Amino acid sequence: MEKKKDIVMSGIRPTGFLHLGNYFGAISNYVKMQEEFNCFFMVADLHSLTTHPDTKELKANVYRVLAENIACGLDPDKVALYCQSHLSETAELYLYLNMMAYKGELEKTTTFKDKVRLNPENVNAGLLTYPVLQTADIILHRAKYVPVGKDQEQHLEMARTFTNRFNHRYGEVFPEPVAFNYNQKLVKVPSLDGEGKMSKSESQLATLYLADSDDMIIKKVMKAKTDSGPSEKNAPKPDYIENIFTLMNLVCTPATIQHFEDDYNNCSIRYGDLKKQLACDMVNFIAPIRNKVDAILKDEDGLKQIMKKGAEKANISAAETMKQVRKAMGLNYF
Ligand code: ADP
Repeated sequence: MEKKKDIVMSGIRPTGFLHLGNYFGAISNYVKMQEEFNCFFMVADLHSLTTHPDTKELKANVYRVLAENIACGLDPDKVALYCQSHLSETAELYLYLNMMAYKGELEKTTTFKDKVRLNPENVNAGLLTYPVLQTADIILHRAKYVPVGKDQEQHLEMARTFTNRFNHRYGEVFPEPVAFNYNQKLVKVPSLDGEGKMSKSESQLATLYLADSDDMIIKKVMKAKTDSGPSEKNAPKPDYIENIFTLMNLVCTPATIQHFEDDYNNCSIRYGDLKKQLACDMVNFIAPIRNKVDAILKDEDGLKQIMKKGAEKANISAAETMKQVRKAMGLNYF
């Protein structure tokens, strides 16, 4: 008998153009995982409402995120690729899990505190319970592995806490979900200004988007912060230089990286040359994906079919889970 495949779940918010962080933190893992796991990947439209209540751009963004995932290599025939709001069971499970999440622990979440700081006018309850909704998304399919970037580490810890509370209170329904990356360590793709991570909606000039034109990529990379170079051999790298090497590691050949490492260590590095090389390798990496996205987006009917088929697959798994949940919770009265 064929061994049952482990279940994988992850999602990306449709809050703007996807960037290198989304690619290396999440999608590159999705693409590998689709070959060996039972995968559920969604466009997290409900999550986006916590910070982006204006829905004028939402539909276009949902289609774009779908197209970008497919252009990066996700195969809708191999995975369930769907939209979060097409699974009504998500809301039901979210409600039950909210009874297991305490205000104090939610208020301590780093991403919540960051978002409150960025937007003090819109501290809504959805923002506070973001990690609860995320837990519902994951365990709705009884997923074990969650491919995400390093910024999601704390959310995954919370997902384990809520899952364990449920299992403890009502019986073992769910496996404990864990964050996953093929390289063991979770990835953080730094922003080009040396401040924090690349992100869809913040620091746009310091983020490389999969939709950026060649000229824009070159412009952004050439503006990355550097200095006049090390004055001592084998000196430790300042954070902003370390970040540039981190970006080189994503797209340059090992020989190129070694060349600039050697130049750095013997104090002969020319950051202008390094950035030109990095810009060229970034263009070679991003341009083919950008061109594929443009072609996929032209076929709106095709994308609709993909979304429908994805929702059908995901609904089957969600319905089965919720049957078990209601039974475990004693909510089955007939
Ligand atoms: P964003 O923060 O850009 O809005 P999302 O919250 O939609 O992105 O996250 C989608 C996925 O991309 C998550 O798995 C997240 O961990 C990953 N991700 C986002 N930014 C980065 C980054 N700079 N480096 C690594 N992974 C990232």
